[in-house]
Amino acid sequence: MIGEPLVFVGTCDLAGLVRGKGFPAEELPLRLRKGIGLAHSNIMMSPFGPIYETPFGTEGDLMLVPDTSTKVDVEFGEYSAAERFYLGDIMTTDERPWECCPRNFLRRAVLALNQINRQSGLTVLAAFEQEFVYTGVEHRPGATYSLDAHRRQGSFGESYMAALRAAGLTPDSFLPEYGARQYEVTIAPTRGLRAADEAVIQREMARAVAHRLGYRAIHAPILDPNGIGNGTHIHFSLRDGADRPVIYDPARPYRLSVVGERFVAGILHHLPALTAITAPAVSSYYRLRPNRWAPTWANLGVQDRGASLRICPIFGRDGAAQQFNIEYRVADAAASPYLALGALVWAGVDGIRHNRSLPPPPEPSLWDMDAAEREAAGARPLPRSLGEALDLLAACAEAREWFGDRFFDAYLQFKRAELRVLDGLTEAETCARYADVY
Ligand code: GLU
Ligand code: MG
Repeated sequence: MIGEPLVFVGTCDLAGLVRGKGFPAEELPLRLRKGIGLAHSNIMMSPFGPIYETPFGTEGDLMLVPDTSTKVDVEFGEYSAAERFYLGDIMTTDERPWECCPRNFLRRAVLALNQINRQSGLTVLAAFEQEFVYTGVEHRPGATYSLDAHRRQGSFGESYMAALRAAGLTPDSFLPEYGARQYEVTIAPTRGLRAADEAVIQREMARAVAHRLGYRAIHAPILDPNGIGNGTHIHFSLRDGADRPVIYDPARPYRLSVVGERFVAGILHHLPALTAITAPAVSSYYRLRPNRWAPTWANLGVQDRGASLRICPIFGRDGAAQQFNIEYRVADAAASPYLALGALVWAGVDGIRHNRSLPPPPEPSLWDMDAAEREAAGARPLPRSLGEALDLLAACAEAREWFGDRFFDAYLQFKRAELRVLDGLTEAETCARYADVY
């Protein structure tokens, strides 16, 4: 069969899906300048049915311009198509960043962090830990974390690791998780915008490898409303301009330095509203229920997998400051990593700007308290549904500023339309709809 190389350029949009267009590889030099054409409403394509109403309608033209730093060119062997794509920025036709570009939302957040203090030049270092269901194995009771479950996924894990490496990422771990047919992959941390680019590539490579084996890597927030969810946990810390870690101070509460405390306090302060960005599916809220190692309270816990924000352990005696990081556990893969990490950085910046502080570590444990005592100790319940989360986000004046009016209203409109489209389905039906898409 004859053929010529095709390249795809996409962005991870408001639905958390990578969408864009393909073109002949030999046109790349031109496309790096002119991008490919997009309509404004392309950013909010509905995963569940006809096009929802959008603020943009059918009018307007934009360009999606590939960023060469995101290049993925992975050969899958003689009998399989290669995976060639770039992630890109949505620009206006006169080459300015478009106000509703998700990638630019994160880029602006990273810049705001960097400019808080020009001397220190802070940046975020982040790594995504992503859970998904691999359909190429049967579920067996007792499979949780077992060598047997590790073995039964066959060649998927090794091919996935090779694909990540060929795509320029550094895999950290691959493991059978708690849920039925569930696996998890973590990659090494990277800085700023690149961290979210890698999270997108990480997800797409899981799908790419599973697809070539005839299966799926399903990243929907939860497949069975009574089961275990797929979390996307975001590990983060801050570095200064000389790449020194700056959030660790063993002498202070939570071992957080002053800047670390302020950054985390900003996230904690905005957390209930941020949930609408980081856990943006109707089914996200079936995952955020008790006894699933998923958070239900907006709180900071030390080495606590039930907390929304978890101070991670330091392993061994060396390199404490280098290792020290916080894990944000309220995200899932229905969220675009650009919006999820962007929201965390914006909220952290808000915490630094307003010198926000953390409540003291609760004594006794939060889990030994009743709801009123928990709230007195500074924790608040997470929203119980997407509708509740969206109302909190809509009321968050700071979030409106981070996005800008047009982007903020478009996001709310998009997610409220999703709520309406899925209204009336049972929880199991809702899970199935998301599993088909993600
Ligand atoms: N599956 C859990 C979640 O939905 C997380 C389990 C873990 O701690 O890795 O977030
Ligand atoms: Mg996990």
